[in-house]
Amino acid sequence: MSRLTDYSRLCIHTITTKPWSIEEACGNFSDAGVKGITVWRNALEGKALMATGRMIRDRGLQIVSLCRGGFFPSIDAVKRSLALEDNRKAIDEAHALGAPMIVLVCGADPGQPLQESRKQIRDGIQEILPYAREAGVKLAIEPLHPMYAADRSAINTLAQANEMAAAIDSPWVGVAVDVYHLWWDPDLETEIKKCGRMNKLFAFHICDWKTNPEDLLNDRGLMGEGCIDLPLIRTWIEAAGFNGFIEVEIFSNRYWAMDQHRFLSEIKEAYLNC
Ligand code: ZN
Repeated sequence: MSRLTDYSRLCIHTITTKPWSIEEACGNFSDAGVKGITVWRNALEGKALMATGRMIRDRGLQIVSLCRGGFFPSIDAVKRSLALEDNRKAIDEAHALGAPMIVLVCGADPGQPLQESRKQIRDGIQEILPYAREAGVKLAIEPLHPMYAADRSAINTLAQANEMAAAIDSPWVGVAVDVYHLWWDPDLETEIKKCGRMNKLFAFHICDWKTNPEDLLNDRGLMGEGCIDLPLIRTWIEAAGFNGFIEVEIFSNRYWAMDQHRFLSEIKEAYLNC
């Protein structure tokens, strides 16, 4: 496995340093030598998108993705059509910003069977696909840990994401592999290989899984702090042909509460060790 010796492939999600505005994040990432940024839509509220995209590029940062679209399923047809509308809006935002890809947190409705939610996810992606292609924006299906199957995502394994991407069969639809969601899966290596073979490995998100997290959403660990074998998973990712950005995505009440400059230094150090 290649060692990470510099920050040329380091991307940080704006949500990781949530207390910073998009302007602060850009300036501070850029000063720190970070090369990629994934922008969360909450960071764009009230912003002029094209100008924000220019500001990001002027700071020498590459926009990796816009987070996030998805949330397709609902037992209520009106809500399903509102979700499609919101996804089209996200595609417009990505296009204006200059983001080449949208990460999809696919959604689930606890009021209906998972199979039904999965069918609605597939229908939803197929519905927005022509619009995404027209805008030049790729869609990455992100499987979420099964603890979120009730209401955040009915796609819970890489096998399911691969299967859906294969069934949709478009070069514009692929998969985002996030170690927080997938590290436990005994089929992970096999499925990463498969994803690579299909040319569907669009994104790689990292953080760590702490034993006994205080909060299942907002207590993710910094790389090296938990039990995920990141060097091993990165070996698999790279063997599958992926050489894109390695994206640090950490939701953490604890890290958001600390000095974000110090946190950024810790991220950089932890990154080189993973
Ligand atoms: Zn992720």
